[in-house]
Amino acid sequence: MVYRFRDVEISWLGHDSYRIKKDITIYIDPYQIKGGPPADVVLITHDHFDHLSIDDLKKIVTDKTTVIAAKHCENTLKKLGKGAVKYVSVGDEVSVAGIRVKAVHAYNVNKFREPGIVFHSREYGGVGYVLQVGDVSIYHAGDTDFIPEMKGLNVDIALLPVSGTYVMTAAEAAEAAKAIKPKIAIPMHYGAIVGSERDAQEFKRLYGGETVILSKED
Ligand SMILES: [Zn+2]
Repeated sequence: MVYRFRDVEISWLGHDSYRIKKDITIYIDPYQIKGGPPADVVLITHDHFDHLSIDDLKKIVTDKTTVIAAKHCENTLKKLGKGAVKYVSVGDEVSVAGIRVKAVHAYNVNKFREPGIVFHSREYGGVGYVLQVGDVSIYHAGDTDFIPEMKGLNVDIALLPVSGTYVMTAAEAAEAAKAIKPKIAIPMHYGAIVGSERDAQEFKRLYGGETVILSKED
């Protein structure tokens, strides 16, 4: 199912993976995808296997592709062997193929691997992204909890994780959405590693704002 917002097309490819099209083709965190049109731009939020997957990148990256990735992805991304890569940290802004991409904070505050140690710490180096595609701004939160930095975002579309365990629960994501106030919220991070569509429905119910639950593209 392709969701259209103005002249931008958004397809959910499962988990945190998206294809976004408007003149150019953008992928975010491709994971367990079947393939598809070649990428002009790919964004990678962090180096966990379900976000940075060389096997999946090989399906869509060509020598003309620009991959934008969190700095700590460098060792793994060397194995890709094609495309150009730009590494970013929080606050960095990149203009490529007519779109603007800004790396923003993504980290856990209360999802612990073991007592006192979160899955994604602030120092770990994962990011979220705000993309400006034509006149449409899209926020991909990455793997994160509800963090204060979200309050300053001003976006049309917010892609928000809802599964809990490693990221926000549906209830926390609903609070995040209320703070961000996007025109459209789209829940993600379910149906693969952890979480189910019930989390997405729960998010929609608790948030109460405009929510689009995408069906995964086959
Ligand atoms: Zn992760």
